[in-house]
Formats: sequence, C-alpha cells, structure tokens
Amino acid sequence: MKRQTTDVLVVGAGIAGLAAALEADRQGADVVVATKAERPDEASTWWAQGGIAVTRDDPEQFARDIRDASAGTADEHAVETLVTEADDAVQDVLVETLDVEFDTNGEGFDYGQEAAHDEPRILHVDAATGKHVHVPFLNYVADETDVEILEDTAALELVRHEGRVYGAVLESDGEWAPTFAGSTILATGGIGALYPRSTNPADATGDGIAMAALAGADVADMEYVQFHPTAYHGDDGTFLISEAVRGEGAVLRNGAGERFMPDYHEDAELAPRDVVARAVKTEREGTGEVVLDVSDIDFEGTFPDLAEKCRDNGVPLPEIPVAPAEHFLCGGVDVDDRGRASLDRLWAVGECARTGVHGANRLASTSLLEGLVWGLRAGEDAAGNDSEEIEPPELLDRDPALPDNFAREKFHRLRRVMDEQVGIERTPDGLGRAQAVLRRLKGEVDAYVRTRTSRSLYELRSAAIVSLLVARAAAENDESVGCHYLVDEAETPAAD
Ligand SMILES: Cc1cc2nc3c(=O)[nH]c(=O)nc-3n(C[C@H](O)[C@H](O)[C@H](O)COP(=O)(O)OP(=O)(O)OC[C@H]3O[C@@H](n4cnc5c(N)ncnc54)[C@H](O)[C@@H]3O)c2cc1C
Repeated sequence: MKRQTTDVLVVGAGIAGLAAALEADRQGADVVVATKAERPDEASTWWAQGGIAVTRDDPEQFARDIRDASAGTADEHAVETLVTEADDAVQDVLVETLDVEFDTNGEGFDYGQEAAHDEPRILHVDAATGKHVHVPFLNYVADETDVEILEDTAALELVRHEGRVYGAVLESDGEWAPTFAGSTILATGGIGALYPRSTNPADATGDGIAMAALAGADVADMEYVQFHPTAYHGDDGTFLISEAVRGEGAVLRNGAGERFMPDYHEDAELAPRDVVARAVKTEREGTGEVVLDVSDIDFEGTFPDLAEKCRDNGVPLPEIPVAPAEHFLCGGVDVDDRGRASLDRLWAVGECARTGVHGANRLASTSLLEGLVWGLRAGEDAAGNDSEEIEPPELLDRDPALPDNFAREKFHRLRRVMDEQVGIERTPDGLGRAQAVLRRLKGEVDAYVRTRTSRSLYELRSAAIVSLLVARAAAENDESVGCHYLVDEAETPAAD
C-alpha cells in the first residue's frame, strides 16, 4: 500500500461515490476512489431492485409524496433540491453517459408504481435496476475517466487535525498507508451488518459514519432505521422482494390465508413501509407466518430476474414467505445541500449521509436518486482543494488471527441486541439495556484496536460505534415517528 496524495479521495464505489468521482473528474480534479469491495455486488447499489424515481411533470406532487412518507419530517430544502435536480441528473448520467436501457413500453419509459407514490414514476430495468446501473457506472468511471479506482481497499481512519480532514488511512492486503486529499468524500453506504437479517451486502458496517463521528463530525437522525416489509424469509438467508411486486398487485396473507393489509391502512399493501413492516411483524407473531401471494400477477413475465432468483434459491411460489429485514438508514453524517459535513474538507453522500430528504422515513426508490444527485453536487463542490500532508494517525501492528475470531463472536452479540432491542419496535427499557451492552462491547473492541490493526477489527469497531449511535438516538427520541416506533410494554427479551 503506497502513501499518496490526490485532490479528491472518495471512499466507496456505489452510486453516490461514483457520481461524486465522475463529477470531480469532470471538474478537472485528480480523483482516487477506494472501495473495500472486491466485486460490484458488495455495494447496495448493485442490489437495488425497484428502480429510481424521477419527477416526470409534477415536482410538487413528488415532493408531497416524499414529505408524506416521512410523516412530515423531511427537510423542505433538501426535498426541493432532490425533485428539482432529479430528471436532469438521471438524463445526464444514467441515460446519456451510461446508456442504461430502462424498460420502455409503446409510449416511452415504462414508469413503475410503488408504495406511497401518487403516480407511476419509477424508472427500472426489470426488478434488477441496481446491477444495470452499477456495472456500467463502474466500467465507465474505470475506462472513460482519469479516476483511479482502488478495489479491495478499505479506509480505516480519517486523517484529521483541528477540525479539518486531510484524507484517510487506507488498507489493502494487510498493509496500510495514508492517502492525503484536498477533499475527502465518504460514500460508504448502509448499516445492514448491524442486524441479523438485512437486505444489504454483508460488509455494510457503517464505516463512513463511524469514521466521521470519531473525527468529530455531526451525525443526525440515526434512530431512523428502515425495515423493509417483504424480505424473503428462508432458513438459509434473506433477500429483498421488491416493493414493485406489491405495486403490480401481489398481496400479503397471514398464516390463516387472510389478506390483512386493508385492516391496517387504506392503501393496503401500498401503505408506507413502516406501516407494512409492523403489520407483517404483528401478523407473523399472531398467525405464524406471512406470505406474499403473487398468484394474481404475471410474476415470471414482469420480474424475470427476481423470479429466476427465487427459483435458484428454492423459494416456494406463488406464496413467498416474507418477514421484515433491515434495509436502509435514513440518518447518517449530517450534511448540507452540497454534501458538506460539519468538518472542514469532509463530504458525505449516499446512504451514509443524512441530507434530510428522508426525514424519519424514506419513500421507495428515492435513495439511488439521492445518491446520484448529492454525489454530483458534492463532486463539484469538492473539486479544487489542494492536498496537504500532515502527520497521519499511527496504527499498530497487525495480528490477523485473533481479531477475526474475536470479531465473529462480538458481531453475534451486537446483532442480537440490535435485533431484540433496537429493531422495528423499541421500548425505553430495552434501549437502555441495549446501550449498556453496546458500551461494554465497544470498550472491549477499543482495547483491541489500541494494540492491533485488521480490517475486520475496524469493521467491528465501526459497527459498535454506529450501533451505539442508533441506540442512543432512539433512546433520546420519545416520539414514535416514521421508522422509530416505541411500544409501552417491555415485551422484548433481555439481551446479553
Ligand atoms: C436489496 C436492496 C434493494 C434496494 N432497492 C432500491 C431501489 O429499488 N431503489 C432505490 O432508490 N434504492 C434501493 N435500495 C437502496 C439503495 O440501493 C442504497 O441506499 C444505495 O444504493 C446506496 O448507495 P451508496 O452509494 O450510498 O452505497 P453502496 O452502494 O452500498 O456503496 C457503498 C460502497 O462503500 C464501500 N465501502 C464501505 N465501507 C468502506 C470502507 N471503510 N472503505 C472503502 N470502501 C468502503 C463499499 O464497498 C461500497 O463500494 C435498495 C437497497 C437494497 C439493499
């Protein structure tokens, strides 16, 4: 791993990091992208199914839908920024630059309908939009720009001094060195690894949020963790069954075979995600299981990629067993409308950032869009700062064997407490207990970090820090809103 300098360092190569890198390159900056992924499918962007929302002819209605889904908590200015720039960003990058072939019908784009959207406005490729966007994006940035992409390279720690960020310490193949940068853009994605069941790729440990918080940057809205209501519930894993399937007319049935969503919300299966997720949880607990019944839609014809994935994984059709799973973090590093964090020369974009667009709850198919729009804005803003070298943080010698075993055991404990106490439903007592467990766990992890360095240990440290941030924010918010839902009774078992 060589010590280097660059104008812009982007950490993460999902849609947000790639958009930031593309725009900074267009502005003439030297750009290095570091991604700990070895393959494209190690970013949530690759996994996106339903698609990317666009404004079409009615930005006001799109803005209203975003605000309504957020229970009125979304930031007005952030929402306006998103809906105003959505169509240009999609047209410029996805359509004209990357040539993504979104599905069409005889009249043009085949806009999809999803829950809590007032009209069909989702551009998609089958129900596998993510990979049709991510792979061309990676290829384009690698082949058609001057951006240098470092794969299998993790940022472990930000280089900072007195409120300013100078780059990050990067690790590859067990060696590490600083990359100094005039501007550092975090685009590290979500936090699925904090929960036992998540739709995210396995190493979504919230590293960018943890590194930023450790460096002293503000974070916000951390309690708003979105659980997707319809993840396939199998013994050997979980994966998302897109909202678009309900948009097509698939219905949810409980263990007694009854369709129950009309009893919970006037929009039934297309109610906001948090409402559907809690209903699915309640019905599973009451009747043993919940299935997504696709018998009345043309599942194979409309969602061929998803149908194939179901077949490959032995998923029973047409009644797919489903349960809620962690899906998306609405909060993150607190940033402004250009992705600027509270530390000088630090930006954050995509899922690791809190722009205010989602407030307490995210409208379906708006996060690819948020990553794209804020990535472009941050890339433009971050270009133009000169890099400067300072004394980097000193990381200690590596002892690979112990931390890996250690990490496995601690992750198990961490996920259990997050699942039991910081999940879909929370109690004040449970959140108190969770914080106590997580504080102890973080103390144990910190003791190792003082003497050893390995990627898995740093990922565990990120997970411990971010878990604590989520639990603490949840404990400090006594109002049930959006994804943060408090129940009176301490019905959840004690953890630890
Ligand atoms: C199954 C699934 C379906 C979804 N469907 C949709 C949808 O249809 N529409 C929609 O709008 N949204 C959807 N979402 C949400 C959306 O995909 C994500 O929120 C979005 O892609 C996040 O993009 P990102 O660039 O912020 O992060 P990601 O795409 O997750 O990329 C994160 C990158 O950061 C890297 N990284 C992380 N930590 C480090 C580190 N320490 N050092 C170096 N690199 C690091 C990772 O390797 C990766 O390259 C879906 C999510 C999932 C999981």
